[in-house]
Amino acid sequence: MSQDIFGIQAALKSLGIKDLHQGASTGMEWIKTSGDVISSYSPVDGLLIGKVNAAKQDTYDAVVNIANQAFSQWRQIPAPKRGEIVRQVGDRLRGKKEALGKLVSYEMGKSLQEGLGEVQEMIDICDFAVGLSRQLHGFTMHSERPQHRMYEQYHPIGIVGIISAFNFPVAVWSWNAMIALICGDVCIWKPSEKTPMSAIACQQILSEVLKENNIPEGVSNLLIGDFRIGELMSHDPRLSLISATGSTRMGKKVGAAVGARLGRALLELGGNNAIIISETADLKMTIIGAVFGAIGTAGQRCTSTRRLIIHERIYEDVKSRLKEAYNQLKIGSPLDPANHVGPLIDQNAVELYLKAIVQVKKEGGKAVVEGGVLNGKGFQSACYVKPAIYEAENSFEIVQAETFAPILYLMKYTTIEEAIFIQNNVPQGLSSAIMTSNLRESELFLSHMGSDCGIANVNIGTSGAEIGGAFGGEKETGGGRESGSDAWKYYMRRQTNTINYGTDLPLAQGIQFGF
Ligand code: NAD
Repeated sequence: MSQDIFGIQAALKSLGIKDLHQGASTGMEWIKTSGDVISSYSPVDGLLIGKVNAAKQDTYDAVVNIANQAFSQWRQIPAPKRGEIVRQVGDRLRGKKEALGKLVSYEMGKSLQEGLGEVQEMIDICDFAVGLSRQLHGFTMHSERPQHRMYEQYHPIGIVGIISAFNFPVAVWSWNAMIALICGDVCIWKPSEKTPMSAIACQQILSEVLKENNIPEGVSNLLIGDFRIGELMSHDPRLSLISATGSTRMGKKVGAAVGARLGRALLELGGNNAIIISETADLKMTIIGAVFGAIGTAGQRCTSTRRLIIHERIYEDVKSRLKEAYNQLKIGSPLDPANHVGPLIDQNAVELYLKAIVQVKKEGGKAVVEGGVLNGKGFQSACYVKPAIYEAENSFEIVQAETFAPILYLMKYTTIEEAIFIQNNVPQGLSSAIMTSNLRESELFLSHMGSDCGIANVNIGTSGAEIGGAFGGEKETGGGRESGSDAWKYYMRRQTNTINYGTDLPLAQGIQFGF
């Protein structure tokens, strides 16, 4: 059994995963919960990993109250001291990297290397947040009035609600939580109900550090549940910021609920990412970038490459190289490093993949590499599918939508302007790339006339962003930015201050108000 071969049971034990878990924690003891039982099955081999009692409204309210109290204490701790706690979290993650990476891979179905990579991103964001805890600075500016000083400063915003997706079960939480914590906020995390065990493991790790440092309960909270907990969070005015990662369908609901109460939302939603392949592209690099982007995490990354927009003169060459590369792909258990492609998350995802294949053909698409479900020896669950390639038009309904599976669409272009138009002509705006050796093309692609996405790359693919940059996308991707750069400003409220150190009180706009 894969569990024995790959040491999954040992990993679960070292992470403190029990058979039946409670679904709420305020960072101290686990809180007894009485919601539906959520069972987490591995897409790798279909076996049960563990069960958890979901949280219900009563637990939700109790946790929000505790978080509220914790906020009044946590925000008083100086930012660099909060950073010290985050530094310890990073160290603890270093020690648990192997076990947590394995669990992420086993529960989500991504390759072990990607599971470990996800934990490394958590460690990296901790390091980033520690440095940032000494740099939460605003501007000073010159006042128009004599003997006045003006500056702006950033204060903690309150409770940050984090709703996360299944495909990055742990990293996306840390991108939000570690930054929010150094900003002086407290967090409530509702992870995907498809990957609850990875979230429980993270909460255990964080709780150890909080307890050792005598941090009050409620600073970092976990609530396991489905969309109902997410709805409670998005409607709750006590949660100052909702950072939600997931489908555009979910984001529209969360955005509307948070907007209706004039709260702040940070939305990280679906993508429909393309690579433009110019006739001057280095095709060796191009094929590596395109194949990794399309089949990595079995096409279940928000930044997965879904469309290749290829110059007509090299179209046939690229097509045959892709075919050759796809023929060499090894599909099977993601825990086995020999495999390139693992399973989809669940049966529902397999159905959506099959539906998309039917639809692309119905709309006139032609198979370059035919898809299909894989079964038999080496496929221990019904979630393994073949990465597929179809020639398609950008205007097809199915091409305009994000299918969270390894399906790649090929299309031709003649001029660079046309290629950029095609790239932008979808509702989503997350990641984009151009493969070219032509400076004019790459600069046009990066200019205001170029890609309309939050991420635009030259000579690398669409997937795999570094934590140092602000991450996110435009249009139906939601407009949010998280992780590096100045994304921390989302997690704080900005205040402009004017101080008069003179003996007169000149009014703004030259108004005279003498008496
Ligand atoms: P999903 O939308 O089904 O679920 C995401 C989260 O939202 C889950 O925790 C879910 O319980 C919760 N949720 C669902 N409906 C809700 C509602 N009405 N109110 C509040 N919460 C609700 O997404 P998924 O299948 O877990 O993840 C895949 C999607 O996430 C893809 O579209 C992918 O592109 C997107 N994604 C985007 C990014 C990004 O940074 N842009 C990163 C990862 C994933």
